[in-house]
This record gives sequence, structure tokens and C-alpha cells, in this order.
Amino acid sequence: MVHVAVPLPLARLFAYQASEPLPPGVRVRVPFGARVLTGLVMSADGAEPSDRALRAVIECLDSAPLFTEEYLRFLMFVADYYHHPVGEVVFAALPPALKGNRDPGDRLRPAGLALTAAGQSFDPVHFGRAERKRRLFAAVREHEILTPATLGALGAGFARVAKDLVDAGLLARVPVPALSCAGTPGPALRDDQRSAIESIRAAQGFAPFLLFGVTGSGKTEVYLRVIEEVVRGGRQALVLVPEIGLTPQLVARFAERLGSAPGVLHSGCTPTERARVWRAAQTGHAPVVVGTRSAVFVPLKAPGIIVVDEEHDPSFKQQDGFRYHARDVAVLRGQRAGVPVLLGSATPSLESYRHARAGRYTLLRLPDRGAGRVQPAVRLIDLGAEPAADGLSPSLVRAVGDTLRRHEQALLFLNRRGFSPVLLCRDCRWHAPCDHCDARLTVHAARQQLRCHHCGHEGPLPATCPQCGGSHLMRVGEGTERIEEALRRTFPSARIARVDRDSMTARDTFTEVVRRVQAGEVDILVGTQMLAKGHDFPRLTLAAVVNADQGLYGSDFRADEQLFAQIMQVAGRSGRADLPGEVWIQTHHPSHPLWQPLTQLDYEGFAEFALRDRELTGFPPYAFCALLRAEARDAQGAQTFLRRILSLRPLPPGLTAGAVLPANMARRAGFYRAQCLLSAERRAVLHAWLRDWLPQVHGLPQARRVRWSVDVDPYSLFF
Ligand code: ADP
Ligand code: ZN
Ligand code: ZN
Repeated sequence: MVHVAVPLPLARLFAYQASEPLPPGVRVRVPFGARVLTGLVMSADGAEPSDRALRAVIECLDSAPLFTEEYLRFLMFVADYYHHPVGEVVFAALPPALKGNRDPGDRLRPAGLALTAAGQSFDPVHFGRAERKRRLFAAVREHEILTPATLGALGAGFARVAKDLVDAGLLARVPVPALSCAGTPGPALRDDQRSAIESIRAAQGFAPFLLFGVTGSGKTEVYLRVIEEVVRGGRQALVLVPEIGLTPQLVARFAERLGSAPGVLHSGCTPTERARVWRAAQTGHAPVVVGTRSAVFVPLKAPGIIVVDEEHDPSFKQQDGFRYHARDVAVLRGQRAGVPVLLGSATPSLESYRHARAGRYTLLRLPDRGAGRVQPAVRLIDLGAEPAADGLSPSLVRAVGDTLRRHEQALLFLNRRGFSPVLLCRDCRWHAPCDHCDARLTVHAARQQLRCHHCGHEGPLPATCPQCGGSHLMRVGEGTERIEEALRRTFPSARIARVDRDSMTARDTFTEVVRRVQAGEVDILVGTQMLAKGHDFPRLTLAAVVNADQGLYGSDFRADEQLFAQIMQVAGRSGRADLPGEVWIQTHHPSHPLWQPLTQLDYEGFAEFALRDRELTGFPPYAFCALLRAEARDAQGAQTFLRRILSLRPLPPGLTAGAVLPANMARRAGFYRAQCLLSAERRAVLHAWLRDWLPQVHGLPQARRVRWSVDVDPYSLFF
């Protein structure tokens, strides 16, 4: 009898008979109701089923397990932690190509090429005029084992030529060898870097580290050294980066330093590429895997270290379905696998920082920006005293002008795309609403559209007010499009580039903008947070936050933390010793207490302040939370449902449920939404209650008609 996880929102395993012994970790086809599903064998026992009606496994899809039993236990543990159906957790750990019933075996064959015995003694003159065969053959002979990356570099169509030569028996497909670590040597380490590396090296088994240093302080250099050593010792490294951080530049830097390209996993990869990297990681042929959020689940044959770069980044939190936080899963994984976990950030999450302060994580500081770098000067612009036109105050316009005269570059950061967030009728006060959400439509001037940034609804931009017919429609507030337009009017000869989701349609467009900025072909950059991260722009000396107030009195408990991180990131883009940088921040609230640590770019000062606030208000990391959410078509349905399920089981002492309230955006994409925050001082109290309560909820017939979810450790109370 085998116990199988199926990809359905059901919190249990299902038993099947098997005619042959099946090891845990293989995929099987099983009958399920009237359907046939692909499932994964979680455990097997020799017990004969007492229930003769037990249905039988139809077929087994794998000749060898995809996961070890230890790894399956880890997935069960994660499912238990997030109180999420085990089948969905298991299937989140599989690449798309392995989720179906097809066996992609052939496409996942070893991808390196080597000469066969026949190939060794073959004389390429026999290729005659087949120039491409000759080139490929020579390349394989030169490299001994030709990697897929090198094959790709030969040009388009060589995969086809490779197949011909394999079919002809001259080449064979072989596993790609582990990294040689024969890359370019790095710079001489500074003392702070050396001592950080030494403490990580001294770790025995699981050990969490928080590597705290501003952008450019040399964190990546520390990762590279530690990874090099792990790989030399025959083990693997998993590196998680935010969605936006996985740039070709980062991959190229890893490739150059480590001697060959890391396996890369992100949503832009094709299913075949993903499955190939996944398989290489699982079999130990990929010594280094770099990926975004979901890569935290890639199985490793011999894990040696897990690195989470920019560990505070919101993109590590999955916001729907299986709502895990990849950084937290990485720590759990390191704990189970007995390997060090290295979290890096210039602005650590308050959770990680508190762990470090309490001694649970080892805090490693990289205080230096190294030779040639200084912290920029930060200035506040009081928009009350200095009104802005089109979002730009006179001081900011002057500062941009000065920067252009010095032939340096300026960056203007605004976390809102489009032209303006509100279209308002001056006569009747109508403002363009979304018909499906409690939200206003954003004006997109270039495409002459009104768009909802929450549900995706789009419509034409009206010329007259649909309510009163008047023609005095005003565009209130500013987005990146408006800032760009205002800059073009004010600085007609400046070369301006805008970077946001509307202007960057393909991945390459962003890379191209980065190249143009680095080549000095751009004077002013305007954009959203896409801009703020991870690029070196040596001539950029002015960074401005156009509207910092969005985060100031935001009612979400993490708003201040996010604002601080964004400002630090923007500031990190500005200035070098030979070209000192400045940061300008526009605000209507210059006396807000957050500005004190923010203008000093003093993360630890900020963290003290913010932690005190969290403690007083009872939010993480001083409380352990789960957010219950529900959505329904009718206005009361979601709230009624939440009240009903909360009444199923009394709350123990130490666990409190807040009021059942409409969500911050009470209606979205046609659904009314409600939520309720559960909060406990001790994690165990919350989890024990959830464990007993959830089966009761699942037993309720309404629970199948309402969309609802439990978000353990919610990132935000706004969704
Ligand atoms: P971070 O990851 O913290 O942003 P990096 O490791 O990318 O920092 O380092 C920033 C820059 O400084 C890089 O160009 C890197 O090559 C360089 N660098 C890092 N460590 C050193 C060092 N010890 N000596 C000289 N240059 C260094
Ligand atoms: Zn009107
Ligand atoms: Zn909408």
C-alpha cells in the first residue's frame, strides 16, 4: 500500500494498492473520483490493505525517486508549518515540466557533449564541406566536455548539429562536470569580509547568519568566497535572490568568478530549462543554483549552504495559493539539512534583525563601503513650504539642473506608474472609479487609457465627464509618466529614460537601459522600484524620492520598514568618493519621527525605533500572526463566513482574534473581501489551535463555496 499526495487543496494523503513495491518520491498516475491524477508517493508500507475496495496505482512515471525520504519529511514539515494542503506543497516543489503525466526524460538527458571512442579516432577531414559539424567537433575536442552554455555560444542551430553527431556515434551526451572553481580570482579581502567568512567557515551544521552591509559593502564577494569553498568540498550552494535581483549581470559575475555558469531558476525560464536545472540540482550536477522564490524548493543531492540575498525583499513572500516565505523556508531547510544559512541585506527585515540582536542569528557587519565610496548626503524637501508642480518642487528642479550641468546623472524614484492616480471632474467631483474594485482608475496618458492597477480593467480615457458632461477633467497626483513628461518640458535637451512595468515590456529592454546608463547615454532616469536595485551607475550623483509619504502614515504594519528599505536602496545608487552623491526626499510631513534615522541612513537607529513601535502595537516580530481571508460575491458573505468559522472553536488563552473587517480594499475584481487577524505571543499556541481548528473548517459545507485562506506569517494586512 502506498500513500500518495495529489495536487488538490486537500489536507491529507490518499492510500492506493500497488502491484509492485514503489519507493517514496516517485510520481504515479492514480484514479481519483472520475479523474486520473499525477500524484507523488510519500510513503509506502508492506501492510496489506484491509479495505479491499482500495483502488490501485495505474502506473509509475519515474524509474528513480525525485525526492529523498528526508526531503519528503521536510516538505511535510513545511505543509504543517503553513497549514497548507500537503499535495499543493509537494507539487510546488516540482518544476512545471514534471507536474504533468508526460515523462520529459529525454529532454532532461545529460546535457554535456564529449567525444566517443569512435569520435577520438575520427579525422574531421571526413566532414568535407560540413563547416558547422567541423566547428562543433573541434569545440568538443578542445573542451573535453562541452557545456550547454558553450554550445549555445557557438550560435543558433548547433543543437541540431550536435544531435546529428550524436546519432552518427561521434559524440555522446554526458553529465556536465561540477564547477572547476577555476574562475577569475577575486580582490584581496578586507578585514571585515575576512572575519565574516571565517565565522561562516567555522559553522558546524545548521547556523543562521545575518550579513548586514549597505549596497556595495562587499556582501556578494562574501557569498562568492563561501560558495567557492562549499563547491570545492563537493557540496552544493543554493542562492535565492529577489525577482528583480536576478539580472544577467549577477549571473555573469557568478560565472566569471566560479569558472562556469550557475544553474538559473526563475519564472522567465522555459519549462525545459527549469526541469533541466532542477534535475541537475537533484543529481548533484549543478554545484550552484541561483533562483527566485520558488527555487527554495529545488532538491539538492549534497546541500552545503543556502544564501538569501536581500532577505528583506517582499518578493520572497508568495501572496496567493501556498503562501510561503522563501527566506523562512530557507531557514527551516537549513535547519533540517544541517547546513549554514546566510541572509544578506542592507536593511534586514525586523524579524531577522531581532533574531540577530537576541543572539539566535550571528550578526556579521560589513560597515565599510570600501575605498572609493562615501555615504551620500540626504536632504528633505518640505512640500508644504515649497509646492510642487507636476510632482517636482523648485529645489528638486534646481538640483536636477545642477547635476546635468556637471554632466552627471540623476535618478527620480516614484513607486507609482501611469500618468496620474486620479481623474477628477472639477464641476461635479466625479472621479473615475473601477467598476470591479473599491479603487480609482489610473490615467495612462500615452495610451489614452484608464486602467485599474488592481484587477487589470482597462477603458478609453474620456474627453468629457461621464457624469455631468462637463469638460473640466483634471489629472490629480503623479505617476512616473507625468514626471517624465514634466522633466522633458523642463530639460528639453536632457536624455531621459523611464523604467517601470509599462515601459519595460521585455526583459531585454531593462538590460538595454542599464547598458545605456552605464555608457553615459542617459542623463535622467525616472522609474519605480525596478530601478532601485543592484546596479552600478558610476556617474549617478543625484537620487530623489519624489513622494515619500505613501509609506509614512500607511496603516500597514510593515509600511515603515518598506519605506526605509526603498530609501536606502535609492540612496545606494548615488555617489562615489570622486563624485559625492546626494539624496533628496520630497515630503509633506518633514517632522515625522522616521526622518531622523532615515536622513542619517542609519538602519540600526531606525530598527530600534521601529521595533519599539511593533512591540507597543503587538505586531511581528513581537507577535505570531495568521491572517484569515475570505471573498464572496455578495457584500456580507465573506464576513459572515469568517464569523461562522471563528465560532467553531474557542480561542485558548494567549491567542486573540481581531475584529472581522472588510479588507483594506473591500471589493476587488468583483469580490467582496473580509479578513481577521489571529495573533499570539507564542508561536506554538497559534499553531496548535490552527491544527485542531482547520479540519473543522474543512468539514463545513460552506467552506467549499467561499474562497478563503489562512496566511501564516502574513507579509501585509493589505492585499
Ligand atoms: P554588495 O553585494 O554588498 O553590494 P559587492 O560584493 O557587489 O557588494 O561589492 C561591491 C563592489 O566592490 C564590487 O564591484 C566588488 O567587486 C567590489 N569589492 C568587493 N569586495 C572588495 C574588496 N575586498 N576589495 C576590492 N573590491 C571589492
Ligand atoms: Zn462631472
Ligand atoms: Zn479594478
